[in-house]
Amino acid sequence: APAAAQNKELVVATDTAFVPFEFKQGDKYVGFDIDLWTAIAQEMDVKFRFQPMDFNGIIPGLQTRNIDAALAGITIRDDRKKVIDFSDPYYESGLSILVSDKNTDINDAKSLSGKTVAVKTGTATVDFLRKEVPDAKLKLFPNIDNAYLELATGRVDAAVHDTPNVQYYANSAGKGRVKVTSAVKSGDFYGIAFPKGSDLVPKVNKALATLKGNGKYDEIYAKWFGKQA
Ligand code: GLN
Repeated sequence: APAAAQNKELVVATDTAFVPFEFKQGDKYVGFDIDLWTAIAQEMDVKFRFQPMDFNGIIPGLQTRNIDAALAGITIRDDRKKVIDFSDPYYESGLSILVSDKNTDINDAKSLSGKTVAVKTGTATVDFLRKEVPDAKLKLFPNIDNAYLELATGRVDAAVHDTPNVQYYANSAGKGRVKVTSAVKSGDFYGIAFPKGSDLVPKVNKALATLKGNGKYDEIYAKWFGKQA
């Protein structure tokens, strides 16, 4: 590759708030995705800067090539593969329901029927609920922290989002106010996303495989999830 291309600083989008994958601690972004990409970039010997943005803007940003890559717990899906490219999967996930600590009647997807449910704009949860529970009333938030606040203050019956995020929130900021009642979907996988045809894809896959082989991925996983991958 020409020297100019090698020296280019990659713009890597992340979500603004998706614990524990990327979130603000003081004036700094930290999290699993942040550590994973930092290790991948080191392995590839490339320069980069993170650009946090609302999840809903990430796929369009990749399509217009304003960003070079994105890590935001992005679920690999066939419809998305038509417009962007994905790395090999790097994390297994799913969707779970969060309710008030006192709630007793919401315990599976069906019980969300007729309820008001806070969800995050542009995410897989929105598509899942529209299909599986068409009469749930969805209240959309660009930032999931505002959805959780809506639940904690009793203005919605439930919130549904990615299982690791829901669990992390219930065990930290939401502790004593909200609880996870049930997983509604499993077997989703996160991938690093790229503009279609990006030559970064094979390079990132190679770096990811190296980190999985040499223990670095397990180390980062244990740091954020407290157990081995
Ligand atoms: N996994 C979700 C999706 O791809 C988004 C997770 C997030 O909020 N960053 O739709």
